[in-house]
Amino acid sequence: MITTTNPATGETIATYETLDDNGIDAKLETATRAYGEWRGTSLDARTTVLSALGDLYEANKEELARLAVTEMGKPITQARSEIAKCASLLHYYAEHGPPMLDSKFWDLSDGGRAEGRWLPQGPVLAVMPWNFPYWQVIRFLAPTILAGNVGVLKHASIVQGVAQRMEELVMEAGGPEGLFQNLCVSSDPIGDIIADTRIVAATLTGSEGAGSAVAQQAGKHLKKVVLELGGSDPFIVMPSADLDQAVKDAVTARIQNNGQSCICGKRTIVHAEIYDDFSDRFSAVLKDVKLGDPMDDDTGLGPLSSEGQRDTVLKQVAKARKEGCTLLFGGEKIDRPGAWMTAGLLTDVPLASKTGTDEIFGPVGQLYKARDVDEATTIANAIPFGLGSAVWTRDEGEKEHFANAIEAGMTTFNGVNGSRIEAPFGGIKRSGHGRELAEFGLHEFMNLKTLVNP
Ligand code: NAP
Repeated sequence: MITTTNPATGETIATYETLDDNGIDAKLETATRAYGEWRGTSLDARTTVLSALGDLYEANKEELARLAVTEMGKPITQARSEIAKCASLLHYYAEHGPPMLDSKFWDLSDGGRAEGRWLPQGPVLAVMPWNFPYWQVIRFLAPTILAGNVGVLKHASIVQGVAQRMEELVMEAGGPEGLFQNLCVSSDPIGDIIADTRIVAATLTGSEGAGSAVAQQAGKHLKKVVLELGGSDPFIVMPSADLDQAVKDAVTARIQNNGQSCICGKRTIVHAEIYDDFSDRFSAVLKDVKLGDPMDDDTGLGPLSSEGQRDTVLKQVAKARKEGCTLLFGGEKIDRPGAWMTAGLLTDVPLASKTGTDEIFGPVGQLYKARDVDEATTIANAIPFGLGSAVWTRDEGEKEHFANAIEAGMTTFNGVNGSRIEAPFGGIKRSGHGRELAEFGLHEFMNLKTLVNP
């Protein structure tokens, strides 16, 4: 049984019966059957479903957004943006995806010709987190549908309502039964599901621990795996930056999704020349973020996704103080039902400490001072993760330096780092491997079959 809870109130929302072994078996059988048919469909048939699904996300935006807010507490305006982004991605793959599946040809030295043809492979398991409960899944599902594969979802327990609704929407969009199924299960049977011969590959977005468990099992059974894991992204501000905008965006980067985004700018690294000014302004704007009911349009910071998640962050703040960090303000529990805490800011963080190297998945920032480009780079890279990064500078030489030197899958200049529907997304180091989005995400679980005509 899975029980979902509204993190803004602490009240129970619903309970869901989990699938037993027979239930899981039936879903995998359905997936196999569906794949047998879906793999033979035309690209037109697939893009028709993608477009219809995109339309449904647009048409049901408010209902879907409210469901996510109720289950995991993100501010409603951000939930609406998430749904809109899902719709955009579905339409994007419907419109621009088919040419990404064009064959490639090579002339062979013996006078023959080889063709590389993209073919589907089968049912793929997606293990997904609650923080962007629609987007993370659509980022997997849209290319899956286009590829001719089918998907089974193990969604985070706390967003089972979202998971169910997503399955329904695929059917409403004209997708055949089994094209996309929600498996209502805890993480316990995931190992067996990965081992099952009916599953050809797995993708996981989530924590390092879950990623490692899934990757080990996939490795044991020689199945491909894509991992989108945690991060502790640097947000670097150099003296030539537009400081007003950089301050605003640094706060947005840290506080978005109530501080629970893999690609939040979690560590703000500021050049010594502007550090004091930046620190004052950053603190003022962060303290000013409106905390309140996530259903209100003007709320900037809601509750964390669960009381457990909030308590984890509070423990990290306590640990930071023990490690000698300075808590400038905030980072405290708010005494009311639900998963509430205030935004906070840490400084004097030793680079090699737990605080300096762990991901804080909540609204507590870290501020670092760097004397030059090299020290900013050293701080940026002093983490086991390598997901995203942001750099604020108008200096082209500095841009070029950071573009090559920051160990991350992505760097955004003079903006808030985030995934873009048209561009590849993914990490390096302990942030995972593989890519989502663009043709790279589409091809991850396909068979590039080489056809040789001597
Ligand atoms: P999580 O605890 O790892 O959960 C993610 C998913 O994995 C959930 O469906 C969870 O199920 C399942 N899971 C947990 N332990 C598992 C195991 N041992 N075997 C198989 N499945 C398991 O992560 P989260 O707390 O939901 O999400 C936060 C983390 O995700 C952060 O580290 C964040 O940075 C990362 N993240 C990364 C990206 C990216 O694109 N790189 C995007 C978003 C989030 P249950 O809910 O049932 O436990």
